[in-house]
Amino acid sequence: MKNLLLPRHAEVLTQLARGRALLAFDFDGTLAPIVPARETAALRSSTRALFAQLCRLFPTAVISGRGRGDVRARLASAKVKYVIGNHGLEQGGEPTRGKSSLDAARRCLRELTTRMAGLELEDKGYSLAIHYRGASRKQAARAAIRAALAKLEKPVRTMAGKCVVNVLPLTGAHKGDALLELQARERAELALYVGDDLNDEDVFRLGKPGQLVTVRVGRNPRSAASFFLRSQRDVDGLLERLVGLRTR
Ligand SMILES: [Mg+2]
Repeated sequence: MKNLLLPRHAEVLTQLARGRALLAFDFDGTLAPIVPARETAALRSSTRALFAQLCRLFPTAVISGRGRGDVRARLASAKVKYVIGNHGLEQGGEPTRGKSSLDAARRCLRELTTRMAGLELEDKGYSLAIHYRGASRKQAARAAIRAALAKLEKPVRTMAGKCVVNVLPLTGAHKGDALLELQARERAELALYVGDDLNDEDVFRLGKPGQLVTVRVGRNPRSAASFFLRSQRDVDGLLERLVGLRTR
């Protein structure tokens, strides 16, 4: 993993700025800092200004685990070309797939929240998220969630995140599929994807050297991303460089 903002990797950003590139970002922990209450997550004013500029210069996408409407509302001032919600499942327009396959999981998790304090079930239609940030014993909460889901007759896909377990239908698009589709639609020879969490590994694992630049917020040797930014604050530095290179 290499620090994308070091001068010796400047060529990577130059290529993105010169070519036909799609720039895609995760939302929480990437464009917006992680906050204890997820409903208050928002871009810093500096990020908001830079991201709005970036959206005028490049085709951009935000691919988030949040519902599509939720994340779109948080990007209000920027003209983002594509907003994809529910970890790649909610692309807008098409009928809902796999919604009913989550019925049993929804029931079982709702029941768990009545038995265990500090759990909160978020129903995003296409996917569920069970948050345990409020639980006093995080590990026990995670284990209880895992045990409850393991009892389901029909398996579901689970993805751990920061104090959250995401529950998705077993089949359906993930963030990587969504990114490839947008890249093809844009006929972009190069794409950038920046994310910070486990569900972003679906993009990082695509590989595609020379066609996809993968960046993780926060260094993690277990990540499949090629590059990292030291912290979420460095996202501003990245946006600034890309804007600067394109307007030069
Ligand atoms: Mg994230």
